[in-house]
Amino acid sequence: MRLTKLFIAMLLIGSTQLNAQNKPSRPKLVVGIVVDQMRYDYLYRFSNRYGENGLKRMMREGLNCQDNHYNYAPTVTAAGHASVYTGSVPAIHGIVGNDWTDRATGKHVYCTDDSTVTTVGTIGKTGLMSPKNLWTSTITDQLKISQNYKSKTIAIALKDRGAILPGGHTADAAYWYDSKEGRWITSSFYMQNLPNWVQAFNSEERAQKYTKLGWNTLYPIETYHSSAPDAGEFENKMAGETAPVFPHSLQGGNPLELIRTSPYGNTLTKDFAIKAMQEEQLGKNGTTDFLAISFSSTDYVGHSFGPQSIELEDTYLRLDRDIAEILSFLDKQYGKDQVLVFLTADHAVAEIPGFIKGKKLPGGIFDRLKAVTDLKKALSSAYGDVDLLVSEDNSQLHFNAKTIQKMGIKRADLYQVVRQSFEKQEGFSELVDLQSIQQSSIVSNYKNIIQNGYNPARSGDFMVLLRPQWLIGYKTGTSHSTVYAYDTHVPLLFYGWKVKPQEINARTEISDISTTLANWLNCMEPSGSIGKVIQTK
Ligand SMILES: [Zn+2]
Repeated sequence: MRLTKLFIAMLLIGSTQLNAQNKPSRPKLVVGIVVDQMRYDYLYRFSNRYGENGLKRMMREGLNCQDNHYNYAPTVTAAGHASVYTGSVPAIHGIVGNDWTDRATGKHVYCTDDSTVTTVGTIGKTGLMSPKNLWTSTITDQLKISQNYKSKTIAIALKDRGAILPGGHTADAAYWYDSKEGRWITSSFYMQNLPNWVQAFNSEERAQKYTKLGWNTLYPIETYHSSAPDAGEFENKMAGETAPVFPHSLQGGNPLELIRTSPYGNTLTKDFAIKAMQEEQLGKNGTTDFLAISFSSTDYVGHSFGPQSIELEDTYLRLDRDIAEILSFLDKQYGKDQVLVFLTADHAVAEIPGFIKGKKLPGGIFDRLKAVTDLKKALSSAYGDVDLLVSEDNSQLHFNAKTIQKMGIKRADLYQVVRQSFEKQEGFSELVDLQSIQQSSIVSNYKNIIQNGYNPARSGDFMVLLRPQWLIGYKTGTSHSTVYAYDTHVPLLFYGWKVKPQEINARTEISDISTTLANWLNCMEPSGSIGKVIQTK
């Protein structure tokens, strides 16, 4: 009898120990940071003026994957955020652009449109959003599923798509910014009313207060040696300005909209993210919670002023301070080894074509209007006066399948008509038939990048490739979306928890992020995951 009791007791002790060992070891909180439009070299170009406690601390104390690239095109915001968090590519997760034309209906779709939900937090249509167009689960979903839905996920960004897609299908909240009244809002997909703390934050009117400060440089302007002079020939003017130069008053037009194109948009996001950690008690409930932050202002500033501008440098110097504040908050609240942080970007960016031309570098502005006018002429002389071209989203030409079928037009013939028209345009490189990408004559790296971005239900028929550094755009400002390294090469840093300081030079891809997180956190990878686990020393 005694022996049996002892034996049972031993068994119990044994099983308790076993359970303790098998329980996944996890941090209290995972913080994902996406910097919208951050090129890899920004980690280094401005590093002499970064502080010791922000980006440089993450690089010094964390894992720095130096050759991290997007593995698909179009390299744009919605596809980027979806791919970071799904460990997948647009061909599988379905977010092929910020916008696309749905092939079944012929209708234009915005990535996070959802007419079945309502706006929460303001009046208007800016909250008619949800992740319903995302076809796979995210790492935020998987972490939550693995904890029987007991953990919390909160996602925050000025841009709706920068919050909604990272939050996945099971987020407790995704918040984005509405510039009518300078408020953080959400949709009925997540909740019926804003929590009290969000309402209280909104009533502080911080966006108004920040814009009233105006935007001058953090340091004397003549000390910005890593950037071009503030001459601004190729920069966009902000509303109410006569020249795109410092100081920017931020008082023209709607200041609450202008805050997006200033470093204060990121600071407002940081303030709100810290408030969310405090008020939602993230990481304090015995589960591993997830906070997904995306800093959108870097993208607005980058588009308007370009990679070589003082505005861009100043925005990164201030973002570095915002990141330092988040890291020091995490230190105090949880301790560095109880939090896992990663930082990446949703895409990088091209130089401003006019700017680099002046520096003897190749590149230019593709005359889209002329190309489309010429194409329409070529189509009507080949096929008569019919509306064949439906849209041209994401550098992809989308043709009317029904008309093509009715008229008996052969795809190969249509391709030739289109290609011959584009061949006459300056800056054109190649036209790829998206139904037979692997038969195209382009180099294999680009074939795979285009294949990963192609989805038959949402992509066009033919993709127009321009030569490197040729942009569809205007004389001022710049953009991204191409297959080229200047758009695909972005930072990837992991920091905290069990991460040991090291640099990895072997190429990693954006789909590796969620797969690696799933591996480290002992949960399943997202449903469409194609990434590999990043091998560390
Ligand atoms: Zn952008």
